[in-house]
Amino acid sequence: MSSQNTVTPSDKALQARRRFLREMAGAAGGACMLALGVGMVGREASAKPAMAIRPPGALAEPDFLSACVRCGLCVRDCPYDTLKLSELGDNVAVGTPYFTARDIPCEMCEDIPCVKACPTGALDRELTDIGEARMGLAVLIDHETCLNFLGLRCDVCYRVCPVIDQAITLELVHNPRSDRHAMLLPTVHSDACTGCGKCEKSCVLPESAIRVLPHKLAQGQSAEHYRKGWAEKEKAGGSLIGEQEQLPMRGLEDREYGDTRVTPDYQPAKPGGLDSGWKP
Ligand code: SF4
Ligand code: SF4
Ligand code: SF4
Repeated sequence: MSSQNTVTPSDKALQARRRFLREMAGAAGGACMLALGVGMVGREASAKPAMAIRPPGALAEPDFLSACVRCGLCVRDCPYDTLKLSELGDNVAVGTPYFTARDIPCEMCEDIPCVKACPTGALDRELTDIGEARMGLAVLIDHETCLNFLGLRCDVCYRVCPVIDQAITLELVHNPRSDRHAMLLPTVHSDACTGCGKCEKSCVLPESAIRVLPHKLAQGQSAEHYRKGWAEKEKAGGSLIGEQEQLPMRGLEDREYGDTRVTPDYQPAKPGGLDSGWKP
């Protein structure tokens, strides 16, 4: 046996050390990859979905993300295939359920099987009336292409709404373009819209003029200090500041108070024609 083939204890130690370093490098690489992967998933998990609509009863987004275990049971039990589990690149936290109204809206099942299937309460079990669901809020987003806003009669979004005449009403307004027709403007009411998305799905235009948006995008928030005079008046059963003196409206003295309609014979006062008596 040559001395080259003789493995001494120090060689063994050296080999063991090399193996250890190799394994450590591999493990460190794996750990880096794992950390990178976790980081990516973590970033995805904390990414806010801009347009994604959650299933009925979903908790507020941060609570939902903590509670949802990505099991997919709500998706499995949705009889209309409305719900999907997000995948990498969907810009929705990976593995969480959402739906795209323009593809498949929520059919508002009376027994809400998606909520019943959720094992963690990420979809709130206290939601037993689907009419109380607030998945998002429909917004008539494009007045320029909506056929009703152009003075035509379409009304499809109004007619398919499961909460018709509460979530969407048609508001009659004068058509200033033709000056002799009416326009019936689809108008969404946030206190009744469930965000099911049937209006968005059914809009006849190639790109829907009405869309369901997450409430955060669709709604503002009233300032707490702001009081609506007319609401306060109704609550109090009368004016809060007592009777007001009704001042005459100059040039309209023969009219009812508040009647400022312009009639064909109305002649605006000429400059300097009325002397208010005010002097600098
Ligand atoms: S209410 Fe029905 S249609 Fe809507 S998401 Fe749940 S299971 Fe699907
Ligand atoms: S999303 Fe559209 S169809 Fe559904 S309740 Fe609201 S307005 Fe009606
Ligand atoms: S279905 Fe579309 S185009 Fe027709 S009224 Fe509704 S939003 Fe307008």
